[in-house]
Amino acid sequence: MAQQAISAFDAPAPEYNLNPEQEKKEILRRYRSLLKALRPKLNKGNKQIVRHAFEMSAEAHKTMRRKSGEPYIFHPIAVAMICVEEIGLGIRSTICALLHDTVEDTDVTLEDIEREFGNEVAKIVDGLTKIATVVDTNSSQQAENFKKILLTLTDDPRVILIKLADRLQNMRTLEHMKREKQLKASSETIWVYAPLAHRMGLYNIKTELEDLAMKYMEPEAYRDIAKRLAETKRERTKYINEFIKPLKEKLTAAGFQFEIYGRPKSIHSIWNKIKKKGVTFDEVYDLFAIRIIVNPTQEKEKEECWKVYSIITDAYNPNPERLRDWLSSPKSNGYEALHTTVMGPHGKWVEIQIRTKRMNEIAEKGLAAHYKYKEGSNNEDRFDKWLGQIREALAQDDTDSINFLNDFKTSFLAEEIYVYTPKGEVRMLPKGATALDFAFAIHTAVGSKCIGAKVQHKLVPISHKLKSGDQVEIITSTKQKPSEDWLNIVVTTKAKVKIKDALREEKRTIAEDGKYVVQKKLEGLGVGFNQKNIEELVQFYKLPSQLELFYKVAIKKIDLKELKEFLIIGDKIEAPKPKIVVKETIEENTKKAVNKKDSELIIFGESSDKIQYSLAKCCNPIPGDDVFGFVSSGKGLIIHRTNCPNAAQLLANFGHRVVKTKWAKNKEISFLTGLKIIGMDDVGVVHKITNIISGDLKINIAGLTIESKEGLFEGTIKVFVHDKEELDELVKRIKELKGIQKVDRFDMEEIG
Ligand code: MN
Repeated sequence: MAQQAISAFDAPAPEYNLNPEQEKKEILRRYRSLLKALRPKLNKGNKQIVRHAFEMSAEAHKTMRRKSGEPYIFHPIAVAMICVEEIGLGIRSTICALLHDTVEDTDVTLEDIEREFGNEVAKIVDGLTKIATVVDTNSSQQAENFKKILLTLTDDPRVILIKLADRLQNMRTLEHMKREKQLKASSETIWVYAPLAHRMGLYNIKTELEDLAMKYMEPEAYRDIAKRLAETKRERTKYINEFIKPLKEKLTAAGFQFEIYGRPKSIHSIWNKIKKKGVTFDEVYDLFAIRIIVNPTQEKEKEECWKVYSIITDAYNPNPERLRDWLSSPKSNGYEALHTTVMGPHGKWVEIQIRTKRMNEIAEKGLAAHYKYKEGSNNEDRFDKWLGQIREALAQDDTDSINFLNDFKTSFLAEEIYVYTPKGEVRMLPKGATALDFAFAIHTAVGSKCIGAKVQHKLVPISHKLKSGDQVEIITSTKQKPSEDWLNIVVTTKAKVKIKDALREEKRTIAEDGKYVVQKKLEGLGVGFNQKNIEELVQFYKLPSQLELFYKVAIKKIDLKELKEFLIIGDKIEAPKPKIVVKETIEENTKKAVNKKDSELIIFGESSDKIQYSLAKCCNPIPGDDVFGFVSSGKGLIIHRTNCPNAAQLLANFGHRVVKTKWAKNKEISFLTGLKIIGMDDVGVVHKITNIISGDLKINIAGLTIESKEGLFEGTIKVFVHDKEELDELVKRIKELKGIQKVDRFDMEEIG
């Protein structure tokens, strides 16, 4: 594959110049080679229908040309060819591939296709037809289209396979496009299509897509590596032959039927290695891999692969850390093989991939080959499970497309890990999944009550990132419920959707109380509790919905005291015209002080979900432990237990980088902060202040001192808050008290 890409790069396709007669012949020649590739699957009846699809497409596209000047029909024929030869799809997919651009670009309608080729073909072509939007080429349209493809995928995975063939063909002919189109198509390819091809098990297509995208995105690096690969080819071939020789002899002597060859790694993967490891081209040791393909009966597959392994390791020493057994647990995209890395001649590490013919076909043609071998067996395998998970996520999804695409990427295109339940059942999760993701994977009821987990019998918090092979037991509590910041803990779509559902449900319940309050207030004014009046309030408070109004009233974020200023006209209320507000200096000062400290204190972001923190590996704190936060350079806030073995040293040497933290009930962590209050001395002021803090706002007070002098008082309060929003609310409420002159935030040093 890499070799192909090199030659394609060095020698761009010649300009297209065929006369109409030659062109006609060329179209037919290409169509015939498609038929030839299809031959094993063709019979008299379906040959007719393929011909029909070809003619319909050729007729529909007949006035259209590709950017290269070629007749458009070259493209659908080439896409169909990829479907047949490189993906292993059959007659129906060929028909769909031939027709895939007709509905979008020509006068042919879906009804035409359904009438001529039936419902199944029409459905697939519909899935392949882009959604037309008013605004062209924005990112959300791309996401929208991608989502549509996925929706169809759940009915018929062929849609995505044909889409990948289409994308590959377009990438292969990208040189004729404008630079900006090349960049756009290449980044989409890297971002979505290559990972998707990978997940569909189409390794060759994935590799070629990556190489082609790199060719346009990083032309210099691409050219450089391609050149060096070409320069070192002779040397490499010599080495491969030297390496293979003893293996060939031993395998032949043992009576194996096998193929063995060296395969260069792709330019993109070499480049990734250079970037990731900061090495030069000459230092990348695995520029190629050796592949051994054997052909045993299906029952003997595993045994034979391990026999080959044993023969290899008799000849060369294996690196025990680089043995990958995808025989016993195949990847969810269906990939099966045994990989090992051995020490070859001249002290070079060499990767060897051992596969059977069946496994190789699946590795190269992915999904289609996978289904071919699976025929007749009803066992739900990992690929089916993966599809099932996508189906589930799509069914529940109501987020916008861009979010969906992001979620989809982290949930379904990421590499996966395998974790075990206490009973030893295996669960597949995307890399980066947390204990909470696992809990939701088990069951929504388990997820929403999850307070922590045990991994290998050790307690961990819900945010603990799982590793392959972990055995996880979820700890639940009936008192637990999902909170907003859980959304930052999970990566799986399922967990996200379920958490959002629960939050919405809770909001609705809470809003019921608010609704009652609003009703009472309106009735108190002698006006109706009706849609019009509610709408007036929603607009006045600039809220997105009445649910939001009721909710905000219920949680006392809105107290409706402004209602007093509303005009009452009969049964209707009307919001007063906005006044020009002159800000008082005192307020300005406070605001400034808060903002200034904001930038100094990383513990107060805009809201709690922006606080970057991680849990220290040395002491694995869990909710409820005594903890403190340590401001690390680069890694944000790290939470340690106060009895952590490192605590004393950290506290002693880096006291200025220590931040007091405390677990909060649902929001995990709250932060200690302080307020300085100055006002007129007044009996009961302490009571009023504490009432606001712990009564109304339910914020924990860590300490409170009040001093009064000559009719003035000065108080300091230390409180645990979750985020700036909560603190702001607190400051606002205290300022509203009679006689309060100034409310200021503390510096952390003063809190001590
Ligand atoms: Mn196309």
